[in-house]
Parts: sequence; C-alpha cells; structure tokens
Amino acid sequence: MNQDKRISYITILITILIAGFFVTFMTVRLAINAEHDSLVKRATTIAAGFPPDVLSTVSGVKTDIALQSYLDLKTTLVRIRRANQDVRFIYVLGQREGDVFFYADSEDSSSDDYSAPGDIYHEATQEVRDGFGTGVAFIEGPVSDRWGTWISGIAPLRDSNGEVAGLVGIDIAAYSYYRTIVVASAVPVLLTIITVILLAVGYHDARKNDEFLRIKSRFLSVASHELRSPLSGIVWGTESLLRHRDKLDEHTRQMIFRIHDSVVYMSETVNDILDTSRFNAVAENRVQREAVDLAALVRSVAGVLSLTGEQRDISVVFEPSFPERIPLVFDKEKIRRVFANVIGNALKYSTSGGVVTVSYKLQDDQHIISVADTGIGIPADEQKRIFTTYYRATNAQKHDARGTGMGLHFVKQLLELHGGRIWFESKEGEGTTFHVALKA
Ligand code: ATP
Ligand code: MG
Repeated sequence: MNQDKRISYITILITILIAGFFVTFMTVRLAINAEHDSLVKRATTIAAGFPPDVLSTVSGVKTDIALQSYLDLKTTLVRIRRANQDVRFIYVLGQREGDVFFYADSEDSSSDDYSAPGDIYHEATQEVRDGFGTGVAFIEGPVSDRWGTWISGIAPLRDSNGEVAGLVGIDIAAYSYYRTIVVASAVPVLLTIITVILLAVGYHDARKNDEFLRIKSRFLSVASHELRSPLSGIVWGTESLLRHRDKLDEHTRQMIFRIHDSVVYMSETVNDILDTSRFNAVAENRVQREAVDLAALVRSVAGVLSLTGEQRDISVVFEPSFPERIPLVFDKEKIRRVFANVIGNALKYSTSGGVVTVSYKLQDDQHIISVADTGIGIPADEQKRIFTTYYRATNAQKHDARGTGMGLHFVKQLLELHGGRIWFESKEGEGTTFHVALKA
C-alpha cells in the first residue's frame, strides 16, 4: 500500500475516533444532565407532597417513635419508596446546633440500615448542611457512606411560613445511575467501534488488492519479457529477409511483408497492453534515465516501422535539417514506445502514396520532434477525445479495423513522467502532425 493511501486511512481513523469520542462525551453529558434533572424533580415533587406542618408535630428525638405523627411520616416514606423501585432510601433530615439528624427514614426498624429519629447523620456533606440555608434542591454524589455509594436528590421541606424546616433525600444506588449512563453511551461507542472495524476491513481489502496488483505486475513483467523477446526475434528475421527483397519472388515478398506487418503490430500491441497494465503498479512506474541520442532513437524506430508502410507505398522521410545527434537523458525504452506509437499511427492512418515527414526544432529549451502525415486526419469534433483510453475516431475505425485506442493515452502518460508534452494539428482528409516535446 502506498504512503498516500496509508495516510488517508490514518486520517480517517483519527477523525472517526475524535468524532466518536466527542459524540460519546456529549451523549454522556446529556444522559448525566437528564438523570440529575429527573432526580431533582422527583425529590422536589416528593417534598411538595408533604403537608406544610408535617415537621411541626415531631421533634427529631428518639421518643418521636411513640407519636402517631412520626408513624404517619414514616408510613408515607415507606409508601413512596415502594412506588419508586430504583430508590433505595428516602429520609427526612433536620439540623440542630450544626448537626444533621434524621426525623424519619423509609427503613423498617428491624433493618441494619434503619436510622431512628434523632440519630445524627455524621457523614452529612457540607452541601447537605448548606442545603438548610439555601433552600434549593440539588444533586449530591456519588458519595459513599456507611450504607453504600449513592447519588442523592435532595429538596427542601418548607413549613407554612415558607421556611426550610427540613430536607427530603432520595438515594439511588450509584451503579443504577452509572448503568443509565453506560447504556446511553453504548450507542455512540458501538457505532464508533463498528465504523473502525469497517475501516479496518477496508484497509485489509485494500492491502490485499495492492498485493494482488503487485503479483499481477510481477507476472506481467515476466510475461512481457518472455513475449517481447521472441516477437522482436521475428521482427528482426523478417527485416533481414526484406533487406534482400530484390532477390525474392513477388509472392514470397508479399508474404514476408505481411508477416512483418502483423508481427510489428502484434509486438506493439503486446507492449501497449503489458505496459499499460504495468503502468498502474506504482513500483514499476519508475523512470530509468540514461544518456541517449534522441535522433538515433527516432531514426531507428522509423527504420523498423517504415517497412510496414512500404507495401502501401508510404515513405518515411526526415527533413534535411533533422540533426545527426540529439544527446539527452531519458528512459530509453519509454521514449522509444512514444515514437513507435506516434510514427506507427502516422503510417497506419496514411493512405497509399502518402509521406510521413519527421522534423525537429529546438524551442525554449524544448526538443520538439514533429511527425506529419498526409493521411486520413482526425475529425474536428473527435479531436478532444483521442488521448482517452480506448477511443478511436470513426474514420480511423473504417480505415483500419485493428487498434485498441490505448496507444496515445499511454504515450501521454509516458511523456508526463518525463515532464514532456504531446499535441497535434489535424484536418480530416488532409493529414495530421503530432508534436512531441522533451525538456533539454
Ligand atoms: P492502438 O492502441 O493500436 O495504437 P489506435 O491507433 O487506434 O490503436 P491510438 O494510437 O491511441 O489508438 O490513437 C487514438 C486515435 O487517434 C486513433 O484511433 C485515431 O482515430 C486517432 N489518430 C491517432 N494518430 C492519428 C493519425 N496520425 N492520423 C489520424 N488519426 C490518428
Ligand atoms: Mg496507435
């Protein structure tokens, strides 16, 4: 997998984790606020349910046990607790000389957790102590005391003058409070985990795909070597036979021309297919630069290809000003492929008796080689598309059925690898000139 892809995956992963964390954090905050609100409201509602004088008939001392008003208060607390299953304790607190004490609680007197009237609540926090003064309902906790760990909703109990006579507290076990928060956060956490898993699966697939491409590219480079060698052997063989074509009878000459034509075409097509496939594999994409004579390279390509035109009486000529030598540094095989395609096209899309002219000029540090033909030309409305993969102009298809439409697309990519350029002028029915520019 290439570096860019890996960085994209890492960026997406970090984004998902940050977004997941943020959404979970917000959900937890909302859940906590909702829990607190509901607890405060419940404590306030319970406190409001007591008659204003409820604490005026009890004194908050042990002997209250004997009073009917104490028993009534206790029965009410027990009933409220029964109606609120998640609430563990309900109690009414008072304050005397700085101590917080119990008026009554919802526990049975036989229970270990029972607090008798007047028992001091030693663990009372500063918040609870302050609650008598502020008269505002609040949430406390999670706090641990001798009975466990609790979240408490505490609301003032007012007398008929509106003064705070005591506090009503309801305790919910901390685990049930945490459970609500965990349940609320489960959805964003699960969604984040699922997204990360999907991303990991995608990453794994992409890696497998890359591995497949690597193997494919390796296979193709071996195959290309194995196929190219015998094909160039045949091209070379037909060429040497054709060099003595005067000595051959007409039929044999025709046959050898045909073989030569087909094998050159086949060799170029094999090259195109293999190179295009290989082009996708980044590792194979490197440019192997070396010092090369561009003039000699173009002449040699034209020499091989001109034989394919000879039979149709199409000649390849070099303008007299074409230099003897153009020393440059580039990837020889890749640039050879460029000219094989461009000169090959000029011959392929020429009509009998045509001339393919190769010329050169140096302009603004650019070596420009132009290949002009007197062939079928490219229809104006199709000119934009001829560098697209698999595109063949309508007149080209009629003129010569053979062709994949990959050649120029590939040529363009090869030139871009070298910082080079290709462009053309063409007129349908008159001819086409392709210009290839390479940096000095
Ligand atoms: P192949 O992949 O075998 O080269 P091809 O020659 O059709 O097939 P390209 O070389 O990519 O494909 O060229 C694309 C199209 O551009 C051609 O089909 C043809 O329509 C047009 N074309 C290219 N060169 C010329 C030319 N010299 N004269 C006229 N048309 C041309
Ligand atoms: Mg072509």
